[in-house]
Amino acid sequence: MRSVAEHAALVAGLIRGTPVERLPLDQAAGLVLGTDLRATIDLPPFPNSAMDGYAVRAVEVASAPVEMVVSQDIPAGRLGVPPLAPGTVARIMTGAPIPDGADAVVPVEQTSVTPAGTDRVRIDVATVVGRHVRSQGSDVMAGAVVLTRGAHLGAPQIGLAAALGNAELSVHRPLRVLVLSTGSELIAPGNPLQRGQIYESNAPMLAAAISAAGARPTVAHFVADDVDEFRSAFAAAAIGADLVVTSGGVSAGAYEVVKDALTGRAVEFAKVAMQPGMPQGAGAVEIDCSGSPARSVPVVTLPGNPVSSFVSFEVFLRPAILAAMGHPPTRQHRRTRLLPLAEPLSSIHGKREFRRGLLDPAAGTVASFGGRGSHLLGWLAGADCLLVVPEEVAELAAGDPVEVWDLT
Ligand code: AMP
Ligand code: MG
Repeated sequence: MRSVAEHAALVAGLIRGTPVERLPLDQAAGLVLGTDLRATIDLPPFPNSAMDGYAVRAVEVASAPVEMVVSQDIPAGRLGVPPLAPGTVARIMTGAPIPDGADAVVPVEQTSVTPAGTDRVRIDVATVVGRHVRSQGSDVMAGAVVLTRGAHLGAPQIGLAAALGNAELSVHRPLRVLVLSTGSELIAPGNPLQRGQIYESNAPMLAAAISAAGARPTVAHFVADDVDEFRSAFAAAAIGADLVVTSGGVSAGAYEVVKDALTGRAVEFAKVAMQPGMPQGAGAVEIDCSGSPARSVPVVTLPGNPVSSFVSFEVFLRPAILAAMGHPPTRQHRRTRLLPLAEPLSSIHGKREFRRGLLDPAAGTVASFGGRGSHLLGWLAGADCLLVVPEEVAELAAGDPVEVWDLT
């Protein structure tokens, strides 16, 4: 039997890194920056007010209270603001440009209305130069590298890129992943179910997992357990894919359509020492690109049982997809930690077991959730982590540490 690490290395080695492309900002979230990002402007780009209040010359408001003439009104977004006339103040809103000559802002809460109305204001609290003024470049200086190549583009990084005026970013483009399910028993959700049929659930599940990793899934319509049908669906759908993921048809029975169709086409089928997910396959398949030269596309064949499919994705595909999209090793894996078991747990000797788990944050423990069966999708959906029990371990006692992969 092949080890989990051996199969993981094979899968990772098949998938080529995606090229760096310019993508619009709204498509860059979750991806990895392909080049350093340098600021071309200062942030803030001009000195502006941190408060709603009055822009003043600090020297004229060095003691308080003092009554001042209000010479202008500066809302946010006003252009061409004239300098502040000496002996006056300007009513100013948060984010509005500080007029030349002003060097402090007195918040509106530290002022009082005067009988003269809005033409005059009483400043109740003295101020000093710079107070409540956001100076130009105090956040980011033009010319600085603000995000380095390899940075993960989360919400704050996207916000910063936009604030600096970038409509696009250079990113490792999403991996295009085709998902193709097999099984003559499958029907699409939304149709009436006959005895002997089940709803196709692996493709939607895998597509969701692929999207969550930042890659772009395409779901080919699933096919029956028929080699010719599989081959033609595969040939039609694989064009343009960077990776093909199949579900089902790889175990030891008859009608193993994926195995039958891809054996001898550079896909290796093997038993991997894990539970669930023992039957696996991976390789690179030549596809005919109608006219253009044939190319080979990596294919990873997952077992059909829903829990096996999901666990196999987590163990082999998710890290490989993230790596191909430029994520560093530290981000290719789920958050992993050791937590004490709330209850004893037995495991199969000689296989790495991936059990579904439930965390107890208050107790700081974890317990297995549901049985071993790889059809137990209801339990998988209720779990929040995977428990990883090594090959050589068969029994764990309550309180023993177990490796936990956070799924949330
Ligand atoms: P297989 O790997 O094709 O032998 O399938 C193993 C088990 O998983 C069988 O019980 C199948 O009915 C089930 N199964 C296979 N493919 C799917 C799928 N796409 N959605 C839901 N269940 C599936
Ligand atoms: Mg099947």
